[in-house]
Amino acid sequence: MDNNEVLRKLPKIDQVLNDQRLVAVFEDVPREVVVDAVRKSVDEMRKDMLAGKETDAESIFERVEKLVKKTGTKSLRRVINATGVIIHTNLGRSVLPEDACRNASFVSTGYSSLEYNLKKGTRGSRHDHIEPLIKRITGAEAAMAVNNNAAATLLCLAAISGEKETIVSRGELVEIGGSFRIPDIMDISRARLVEVGTTNKTKIDDYKKALTRDSAMILKVHKSNYAIVGFTDETELEELVGLGKKAGLPVAYDMGSGLIADLSEYGIREANVENVLKTGIDMVFFSGDKLLGGPQAGIIAGRKKYIDKMKEHPLARALRIDKMTAAAMEAVLYEYLDEENAVKKIPVLKMITDSEKELEKKAKKCAEKIKEALKENEGFHISVQPSENRIGGGTTPLTILPGFAVVIGHNEITPEKTEKSLRANSIPVIARIHKESVNIEMRTVTEEETDIIAETLKSIYGGEDE
Ligand SMILES: *Cc1c(COP(=O)(O)O)cnc(C)c1O
Repeated sequence: MDNNEVLRKLPKIDQVLNDQRLVAVFEDVPREVVVDAVRKSVDEMRKDMLAGKETDAESIFERVEKLVKKTGTKSLRRVINATGVIIHTNLGRSVLPEDACRNASFVSTGYSSLEYNLKKGTRGSRHDHIEPLIKRITGAEAAMAVNNNAAATLLCLAAISGEKETIVSRGELVEIGGSFRIPDIMDISRARLVEVGTTNKTKIDDYKKALTRDSAMILKVHKSNYAIVGFTDETELEELVGLGKKAGLPVAYDMGSGLIADLSEYGIREANVENVLKTGIDMVFFSGDKLLGGPQAGIIAGRKKYIDKMKEHPLARALRIDKMTAAAMEAVLYEYLDEENAVKKIPVLKMITDSEKELEKKAKKCAEKIKEALKENEGFHISVQPSENRIGGGTTPLTILPGFAVVIGHNEITPEKTEKSLRANSIPVIARIHKESVNIEMRTVTEEETDIIAETLKSIYGGEDE
């Protein structure tokens, strides 16, 4: 084709844009994105025609649709977590209960009582919504929520220690991932770090000897994502609390995971907020989106005089939670008023407590669906196998939950190819490769999601052999 002929055959941008087929398909996509895609598609088509490739002008709609799918989708997307890691740090940590999301949506699509006292008709505090629930559930005298647990640590150090000394065991100077390192946070807060003991042993006498006129606080940090085993000694919380009382110093505990429910019958031996507060400790803080199973937040609970100090500190404003988080958090905490119910309704707790039997049943059903989806393709072998799952999120590093996976292998197609195709789906499926196969872990996928996984595999490999 020569240039003139191409120009004649090439679809006109305006015509394409006004075509009913596009209007209907892209109702939800901003016009900018569609216009861009049409321009690029017409451009590509011109190049193809000039290169002498067989080109049908009608294929413009297909080209535009493909391009919009690629460029017009949002960056932050819903994915299916088939890794079996429940609180997956890279996949958004805790999955929220539906009720919590509905409440966040309802409260924030209109005006709200975020800082308004409905009884008095006057200004209120955003703490008023969550604080009563935390007090009731944990037995704390007062409570507040900030952006995350890193923020809680920072605020506590800045407000309670100030520029004075905070004593921490050398075995607890942890890095939590990302760039949260206790010594760095202390630096930023301007609290002076006094390290005591050794990596594997810190005794109450080590803390005692470190006390000076400049001491402001004793801080304990939970070894969330690692364990020190062997020749070890860790000071009991009760001893620390006792020492704090004698010395007239507050004791704070960065608990990390924030377990509220009692999961001991499921083999999860992680300190529970209520029990820690019963030791008489002054302050605890923990994440909202680890074992609590709520939205991202840092919850601080403890003695009113310290919580008040934190609420009044200038950093509190910079670290505060917004109304969507407050609404979601209130709904999640509400579930904890009935703990048996909480274990069923909060996805993180449900995933942790799902039994092997249930997982095996789900796996068998899922394997059947996948076999059906791939039946035209003979090279696949699908099986159900026991596996190991982790809670993740830097919690319970030694806990392994027995799981079940649907294992997808193929004689020729590499697991890397299948993993990548699953990840490229409109609802991306994130799976793990293990021993030359793709594993779909049942603990972190719902029944409905197994349908999507089967459909996705069908659309990738459906019918014809690769
Ligand atoms: C996870 C964790 C943090 C950080 O919490 P975020 O909510 O991620 O900010 C801090 N301290 C400990 C001990 C943790 O386990």
